[in-house]
Amino acid sequence: MEEYIGEKERRYFRLMTTVNQISSMVAFLPPLFALLFGIRIIDYIILVAVQISVLIALSSYKYIIEKRYREIEAPFPRYVLGNTLSYALVSISLPIFIFLIDFFYRLDPAVRVVTINVLFVIGLIFLLSNLPSSRLKRISKPLEDPYLKQQAEELSGKLGTGKLDIFVMDLDKFKIANAGQVGARKYSVFISNYLLANLTPEENVAVIAHEFAHAKQKHVLKNAITAWLITVVAGNMLILPVDIGLHPILAFVFPGVGFFIILLASVYLLPAIQRHYETEADLIASDMVNGEHLISALEKITKLNLTPGDLSKYWNMDHPSTKDRVRRIREHILKRKVT
Ligand SMILES: [Zn+2]
Repeated sequence: MEEYIGEKERRYFRLMTTVNQISSMVAFLPPLFALLFGIRIIDYIILVAVQISVLIALSSYKYIIEKRYREIEAPFPRYVLGNTLSYALVSISLPIFIFLIDFFYRLDPAVRVVTINVLFVIGLIFLLSNLPSSRLKRISKPLEDPYLKQQAEELSGKLGTGKLDIFVMDLDKFKIANAGQVGARKYSVFISNYLLANLTPEENVAVIAHEFAHAKQKHVLKNAITAWLITVVAGNMLILPVDIGLHPILAFVFPGVGFFIILLASVYLLPAIQRHYETEADLIASDMVNGEHLISALEKITKLNLTPGDLSKYWNMDHPSTKDRVRRIREHILKRKVT
């Protein structure tokens, strides 16, 4: 067992993380330099053009890695375009963000505070809307497998979640085995066809049980509200005190603390809460179905995606490592047998 913690996985993971980190730097640095040195627009356009060329080169390299290690069949242009765009978006959104901050500081302090909090409320409405799932639905089809549909219906009945829609995403050529629950108020579950095709029917039911457990516990809603509250508190600290007549030291401390809160929340707190929710969903699922099916599903998914099964805490990911998840499910099954 635990063959999913092999040298191949480690090498693949190291290569991908390195390319991703370099891509993030390439995406972040030009707008940052532009801000620091205040370059002309024409120079900025040239800078972005160079940056996009470098990102295309990095995406092509990533495609080669994916081809070599996971034998993906996605068309090269589609893969490179998608990957380049996901990073290039930073260079578009960062200047807009900087422009917004500059705009806010020019406003009258009272107007500034009101405006930013109105924006936060609009953000909350967006978070609670069903927009993310309606976007995903466009690239998905409703689940058709009669056995899985019937099992899903039984599960939602037992959990008392009401009927939950399941959609299948076409990620076959990208060879991505993934599933997720989307929506803070109206719950939908998305599963990739690559996952469905590679797991046994019982393992697929276990995955559905895990996703339904997320819905039952309202994890997406809790996450969204936590992240939103932190943003509101930290955002107000960042934007408030400079010119409202506070003591100069406080005017310096407040934005510093605000920035620190955002950093701490995004790097440590929110991923830790998410990992806790994952474990909770695993344990609820293993009460609903045979836990051994969930374990073999998790091990297969890890292997299919070439994720090193013991990496997580160190990288501060939003899922515990497969090794930890399997251990906790086993402990849970044992405890239940004893009692
Ligand atoms: Zn989950």
